[in-house]
Formats: sequence, C-alpha cells, structure tokens
Amino acid sequence: MRELVGNCIKCGKEIFCLDGFFNGVLLKGNTIYCFDCVKKDSTLPDQSSTEKK
Ligand SMILES: [Zn+2]
Repeated sequence: MRELVGNCIKCGKEIFCLDGFFNGVLLKGNTIYCFDCVKKDSTLPDQSSTEKK
C-alpha cells in the first residue's frame, strides 16, 4: 500500500507512506523533507530532537 503524504518543500519530490514506513522526514508544522534534502541540509533539526521540552 502506497499513500501520498505530500511533497518535499525543498525539491518538490513526492513523499509516500509505504506500508507504514514514511519515505521522508516530517517536521513540526507539516513540513516535509525527503531523505536526500535532510542529508544535504545540516541545519535541519534531527528528527529525534523535534520533541524537545
Ligand atoms: Zn527533497
């Protein structure tokens, strides 16, 4: 099952949810990046640190 979640805000690539696996990184505010853009942009917050208190 493949579900379109949205587009990478940097390159516009379509991001899919594949059998529950998200094919990109979803940040706060529904900002979506593909893995390629996350790797290239070191200023992006780590997805594990988006839950900071
Ligand atoms: Zn991208």
